[in-house]
Amino acid sequence: MSNSVLIIDDSVTVREQIIRTLESFNLFSRYYEAEDGLEGFKKLLSSPVDIILCDLEMPRIDGFKFLSMLKARPDLQDVPVIILTGMNDRERKIKGLEQGASDYITKPFDHEELVARVKVHLKIKKLQDELKRSNELLLELSNTDHLTGLFNRRYMMEALDKEVQRSVRKGGTLSLIILDIDHFKQVNDNFGHLQGDVVLQKVALQLQKELRSYDCAARYGGEEFVAILPDSSLKEAMFVADRIRLAVQGTRFSGPLAKLGLTVSLGVACFSMEHTPTVDDFIKLADDALYRAKTNGRNRVEFIDPESVKSTETAPDAADHNTTTGTS
Ligand code: GH3
Ligand code: MG
Ligand code: MG
Ligand code: MG
Repeated sequence: MSNSVLIIDDSVTVREQIIRTLESFNLFSRYYEAEDGLEGFKKLLSSPVDIILCDLEMPRIDGFKFLSMLKARPDLQDVPVIILTGMNDRERKIKGLEQGASDYITKPFDHEELVARVKVHLKIKKLQDELKRSNELLLELSNTDHLTGLFNRRYMMEALDKEVQRSVRKGGTLSLIILDIDHFKQVNDNFGHLQGDVVLQKVALQLQKELRSYDCAARYGGEEFVAILPDSSLKEAMFVADRIRLAVQGTRFSGPLAKLGLTVSLGVACFSMEHTPTVDDFIKLADDALYRAKTNGRNRVEFIDPESVKSTETAPDAADHNTTTGTS
């Protein structure tokens, strides 16, 4: 039993009675006490609890003020509060419930009733916590590529949309890298699909390793990956992309893949309101750069200057001197 409870009441006698009662039923492993709403709130911030029993009438910060302080904190809203009221406090009971209390107990309280109500609310809290955890897990699963553990395409598109909007609003730089494994079909053909999966996992790891914590790495599909780099200029993103390229090139595999020399090609684009106003335009620019990296020999990083695309439609030599490559 690792439940904890916070008892807020200005009467030491009441607090002691409650603790004695709860202790006799072995419901909690930790008991916290406070003599008014403010002290209770401070305790709550330093030691989260599973349930709160709170008197209404107290000096300084009373029960109602305490309830409104709780309301302002989304992280504390799931903690059930049972208010302690006087026998004929009909209006105050209603007001307390309306302000967010889960239940009430009238003083002088009946010990068994107190315990029964506490048990009910602990049970509801437990179910709520479980539901919250499974929702979080579901959300995580729905955002994750199950093979590599990176974000999936769906999440990536949402994240990119948000970053584009942020960049438009705040004017910061935003870059995108699209990575495609070179001759991956041959890996599957030569070593089998399962070993192909091992390679995908390894590339995902290398990609993640070269990024900052606030970058977003995702599996875009098949053997293609995407990295979103907020606050990164084209030059910085080209640098990161080349680090990724070198990391993959330097990767050593074991077992059946021991002799595999793996390389990747990368296309880089930097968001511009003028040239790539939509997410689709932005992705297309990075994808075109990737295509250029493939046609120019693979194992290289390329970008396309949107100005050159605009003025000449196709400008195959426009970015050649901005290329990094490991092969010749
Ligand atoms: P290129 O250098 O032009 O990119 O050539 P490539 O062989 O990498 O490209 P292609 O598009 O011809 O082949 C991609 C291969 O990726 C084909 C497909 O079977 C394989 N693939 C896609 N998803 C998976 C996966 O989840 N696991 C494995 N093992 N293979 C996959
Ligand atoms: Mg009181
Ligand atoms: Mg591909
Ligand atoms: Mg490929």
